[in-house]
Amino acid sequence: MHIVVIGAGIIGVTTAYFLRRDGHDVTVIERRSGVAQETSFANAGVMAPSYVAPWSQPGMPAKVFSYLLKAEAPVVFRPSLDPALWRWIARWLGECRLERFTRNKARMQRLAFYSQAELRALRELHKLDYEQTTGYLQLFRTHIEVERSAITRKMLTELGVEHRLLNTGEAHALEPALHGPTRLAGALHLPNDETGNCAFFAQQLKEIAIRDGVDFRFNVAAQSLRTELQRVTQLQTEAGVINGDAFVVAGGIDSVALLRPLGIRVPMQPVKGYSATASITAFDHAPYISVMDETYKVAITRMGKWLRIAGTAELGTRGMQLRDSALRTLLKVAQDWFPYAASYAKSRFWIGARPMLPDGPPVLGKTPISNLYVNTGHGSTGWVMSCGSARVVADVIAGRAPAIDLDGLTLDRYARSR
Ligand SMILES: Cc1cc2nc3c(=O)[nH]c(=O)nc-3n(C[C@H](O)[C@H](O)[C@H](O)COP(=O)(O)OP(=O)(O)OC[C@H]3O[C@@H](n4cnc5c(N)ncnc54)[C@H](O)[C@@H]3O)c2cc1C
Repeated sequence: MHIVVIGAGIIGVTTAYFLRRDGHDVTVIERRSGVAQETSFANAGVMAPSYVAPWSQPGMPAKVFSYLLKAEAPVVFRPSLDPALWRWIARWLGECRLERFTRNKARMQRLAFYSQAELRALRELHKLDYEQTTGYLQLFRTHIEVERSAITRKMLTELGVEHRLLNTGEAHALEPALHGPTRLAGALHLPNDETGNCAFFAQQLKEIAIRDGVDFRFNVAAQSLRTELQRVTQLQTEAGVINGDAFVVAGGIDSVALLRPLGIRVPMQPVKGYSATASITAFDHAPYISVMDETYKVAITRMGKWLRIAGTAELGTRGMQLRDSALRTLLKVAQDWFPYAASYAKSRFWIGARPMLPDGPPVLGKTPISNLYVNTGHGSTGWVMSCGSARVVADVIAGRAPAIDLDGLTLDRYARSR
């Protein structure tokens, strides 16, 4: 079959790779000049399947409300009159109930653990090096945060995920670069979680895919999908028409606009986040293990010679301008923990839009149109879910049973709830 994939973020690139591995002719349409130039570009790089959870969780609505007036808030909500935003919020509030959260989290983790295994297999097969590191340390500034982590620890125990609660001294012993004077009440260590540079990974996989025959067409924007008798026949692009036997929409947040004219409504909203990338100037003062500041929800990751500092979730605005107070928060947190590690004043800043569904899990596989498939809506955990999602979509297209149960990971959950 000739399959056209729209979008070359981490999701589109991994999808193209797995489809080619199944022997299909694959064409990837990407409006940018290369792969991973939008949300997959400078994310936090964390691959922590045990930490994967929906944004819709008990207590979150109150948290969002309490942050409304705080300058250094990790979550920002800017209300607008957009009806799609309010429909999304209504759905999201419903999904914050404990039983929904637990169900959605389990669905996401099923995919994330599978995905991690697929990524490790690819890494081994192709000897990929994408600045990966092992281990993840969640930092608690207060004893209340330590106490609250009991719920997470209980879940981790139930899942059989190795983890350990560390006291202040143990955390400093594990990561000596942590700045002593910054208040640390404890930390949660997850030794098997990983981090890595998502964009590097995507670039390397793209090279392998090209070598294997995938046709990447950059600087070409997909405009619309034409259908006849409930089948997509053509993709209209700025550069002309592209024919195919099947089509996969992997356009991140802009998947919504491509699917809507076909009557396929994906209730996705952009949840923006920021990162700063600073050159490491004192390697002894930079962390080896990736850390997450629980108070500010900011992750700090060593990526080769760079420190990546990422965080903030901002809902309700469409513009992609950098917001000064968010950037200040990132730098404050980095300087709190690793003040001498990097040249923070020369940081490169970035903003990305997480393609977020109200319940959390992405949508994978079939649509009501027989030869049209989706792989999108991965929210804040698209990197960790990428390889598994792509493999699942390739399985569905091939008519094979995926290795994981797809309940709650497909588009029809929204059709059911309408
Ligand atoms: C601050 C921040 C930190 C994050 N940290 C992590 C993390 O630590 N771990 C993790 O797992 N995830 C993380 N994420 C989430 C992760 O980055 C996303 O889930 C993931 O990048 C989504 O990938 P994607 O391929 O769906 O979207 P994108 O990377 O946005 O790719 C979509 C592509 O489709 C193209 N496209 C769209 N429409 C068209 C069109 N009409 N024609 C042609 N091309 C089109 C776009 O140009 C783009 O290249 C983070 C996100 C942010 C913002």
